[in-house]
Amino acid sequence: MRWSRAYIPTLRDDPTDAEAISHKLLVRGGFIRQLMAGSYSLLPLGKRVADKVIGIIRQEIEAIGGVEFELPVVHPGEVWKRTGRWDSVGDELLRIKDRRGADLALALTHEEIFTLHAGELASYRDLPQLWYHFQTKFRDEPRAKGGLLRVREFVMKDSYSFDLDTAGLDVQFDRHFEAYKNVFRRIGTDAVSVEASSGVMGGTESIEFMVRSDSGEDDIAICPACDYAANTEKATSALPAFGDQVWKAPPERFPTPGIRTIAALQEAEGFASAPQQIKTLAYVIDGQMTLLLLRGDHELMEQKLIDGTGTADIRPAHPEEIRRALGADPGSLGAVGVSHLPVIADPALEGRTNMVTGANEDDWHLRGVDVARDIEVSRWLDLRKVKAGEACPRCGAALALDRVIEVGHIFKLGTKYTEALGVTVLDPDGIERLVVMGSYGIGIGRAVAAAVEANHDESGIAWPAAIAPYEAVVTVVKADDPATLAAADEIYRGLLAAGVDVIINDRDERPGVKFADAELIGFPYRVTVGPRGLADGEVEVMRRRGRDKSTLPVGEAVAVVAAAITAERTL
Ligand SMILES: [Zn+2]
Repeated sequence: MRWSRAYIPTLRDDPTDAEAISHKLLVRGGFIRQLMAGSYSLLPLGKRVADKVIGIIRQEIEAIGGVEFELPVVHPGEVWKRTGRWDSVGDELLRIKDRRGADLALALTHEEIFTLHAGELASYRDLPQLWYHFQTKFRDEPRAKGGLLRVREFVMKDSYSFDLDTAGLDVQFDRHFEAYKNVFRRIGTDAVSVEASSGVMGGTESIEFMVRSDSGEDDIAICPACDYAANTEKATSALPAFGDQVWKAPPERFPTPGIRTIAALQEAEGFASAPQQIKTLAYVIDGQMTLLLLRGDHELMEQKLIDGTGTADIRPAHPEEIRRALGADPGSLGAVGVSHLPVIADPALEGRTNMVTGANEDDWHLRGVDVARDIEVSRWLDLRKVKAGEACPRCGAALALDRVIEVGHIFKLGTKYTEALGVTVLDPDGIERLVVMGSYGIGIGRAVAAAVEANHDESGIAWPAAIAPYEAVVTVVKADDPATLAAADEIYRGLLAAGVDVIINDRDERPGVKFADAELIGFPYRVTVGPRGLADGEVEVMRRRGRDKSTLPVGEAVAVVAAAITAERTL
């Protein structure tokens, strides 16, 4: 490609709304432009990178037996209703109507449609199957930001496995695990795998692949001593036993004028430390007001509530709802004596005595609360968010919390979708069996952004050769000098002939501008051809990573650069 014919609109300044480094560099490097919030156009360089990422993923999924499909983006609402997700997913699913008034959904993911096609499978002899495609998804994200990190429209590789039994699913899941590790290594990210919440996909088990970055929107708890790692939506920790003083008497009311928070009560009373208090939250779950109890110093992890109750239809109760149900305002709530509402309690409260909680009367609290004796707990459910420094649930070492970008997610779905859509096959004994499914996703744009987050310096991006928009740039220092241009052109053609994906910067611009653009965009190798070097029969070669420069005889440049790129491309 000749730069003079290309479209590479680099910018000097960061976009004003950008925080994530990948957002800044991809816009400035001329890879992407925003159309609207959460919606980006790939410009030619961005398209080249995305296609290379797609190529790597395709290789890895084909290597584990995948066969490629292409399914539509607009789905009949009816099939989403049959799996229950038309109602359970919430506003992330964009629902539209066609001219006849029929309900349609934009693809949020493709479990429903692939499962429909699996309806043609008849016998165990048709299994296993591994089907995949690259296709657009639309998710009506409320907080689209961060460039390609959190978008509403994006292309995803999603694959779906179909097996006769869970043993077959386990094999396909493990193969995806290895394939994903290969993908993320090949695109230059050091992804860690963690236990995850399955969220709206459902199923029994899921693993996310995470790349550490301050631009991420997820947190993981990770053990430095063993292999425990989990999304904080799912992570647990071991808490030391709490040595409560025994309080034999029934709970005792005491006045707490104006006190509405755990912290204020801790300060005012001195003895009621936060871990000695019960935090009472009022939530509406599937339309039912419910009390959630946590230790005073613990925070609610809403995803655990969603996973534990099986519904995403949760919200904090409004103050007027709370007053109607309990007779007090938030800040004075408690579950002692409450029998008309369900009470879900975090296990950190199990067996605790001599605790302090709201009395369901403004300005009054109760002390001496014995959880087992005084509170009617409907259900124990892990609700709390793990904190850094708490003990690993497996080995006891202190957990660290890391900010990460989720780049891949694999799910053991089981029979959730095949049951809803009636997908069965005959087993060897002629008995009808529900097909067992898994699903596996990688967002292409997010993977591109994560690769930038992991491969950049103060001058710009430093792409791994495998996904660089071009593997090398031949920079012509003096494009208006015919001899220089001719020499550069010969090297450019030589690299092309050697199979290198190369661009020649033949534009009539100052060398400084060309060098800055090359570093910003991040071509792995730059060959600089100028009149002064040519006079000595030499050109300069620079490797973008580490910026190591060397001078080579003109005649050797092609062979040396081609060999270096070939070696890096296949790492
Ligand atoms: Zn551990």
